[in-house]
Amino acid sequence: MKRLLPLLLGLCLLLSSLPALAEESPALWFCLVCGEGCEEEACTTCGSVRGVWVCSGCGQRNLASACSACGLTREDSLTAQMDCGDLLTAYPAVRYLAAADHPDAILALARYYETGLFLRKDQMAAFACYEKAASMGSGKAYLAMGRIYDRGELVSPDYFKAMEYYQLAADRGIAEAWWYLGTFYEEGSTVTRNYDTAMEYYLKAAEMGDADSWMSLAHCCAMGYGRERDAAMALEYYQKGAEAGSALAADYLGWMYMTGELVTTDPATGLEWYRRAAELGNARSMYALGYAYQFGQGTAIDLREAARWYERAAVAGRADAAAAYKALTEE
Ligand SMILES: [Zn+2]
Ligand SMILES: [Zn+2]
Repeated sequence: MKRLLPLLLGLCLLLSSLPALAEESPALWFCLVCGEGCEEEACTTCGSVRGVWVCSGCGQRNLASACSACGLTREDSLTAQMDCGDLLTAYPAVRYLAAADHPDAILALARYYETGLFLRKDQMAAFACYEKAASMGSGKAYLAMGRIYDRGELVSPDYFKAMEYYQLAADRGIAEAWWYLGTFYEEGSTVTRNYDTAMEYYLKAAEMGDADSWMSLAHCCAMGYGRERDAAMALEYYQKGAEAGSALAADYLGWMYMTGELVTTDPATGLEWYRRAAELGNARSMYALGYAYQFGQGTAIDLREAARWYERAAVAGRADAAAAYKALTEE
């Protein structure tokens, strides 16, 4: 103990001098232009001065709290940048807002740890982000935690925990969470199967704005889960989904009318639904439109129009459409 005393005294001295040390070294800040963590007054990565930000509305660089060109405030600009849907563009805003304890930004930061974009790939750091955002009561984070335990990607799967998180998210108004809860009752593996509860939750999700949930309701009717098969009701639900903006539902309707599933075959109507789905960004429908124009399905053969749709489908990510486009244009 005697020998420890000087050591303890030294430690006390060191601790008491820490605040002074902290004041001397500049705090770490995140560059609003490139997202890098910096210690100097100018970013060592991109050269931007601390506090300079890029307006997400017009691209102007500013230091003041509102854009001198378009008037957008820095806070609104950062939020829009974070939510823009492009990981590359969003990064500086995500980094900055996460450091300021913004729950949505902490949630978004997890994606960078998961993908290894800008940050070193680190699944545990990603998990810590999800946990932190969830501890702040974010509904979106609860949904993310539910997905993590459901899929068992960052942790071992735990369906009971998944359901708990989905319920927390659902109670905070996250429509999709009701859909996930519904699937547990439809599958009946973690809870006792109950088609009525499943459909009740699907309906809740659909009415709260999750358009794809109409498809699950339609599917239950078409299969006759817990009730008589009801093709008319299924069709009505698919249409509701498509009208609410579900590209999947519109695409499925296109396929139904082309093949005569649940309805009388009607290629012209099928083509209309495919067109609707394509407008909503569905690549499969774009391919189907190409096929319909190439072989005259519900329309006259039009090879130029076929090539146009195959090209759009390829751009949207369908490799088979690129092959069809090549075959058609090189003939
Ligand atoms: Zn920078
Ligand atoms: Zn601006």
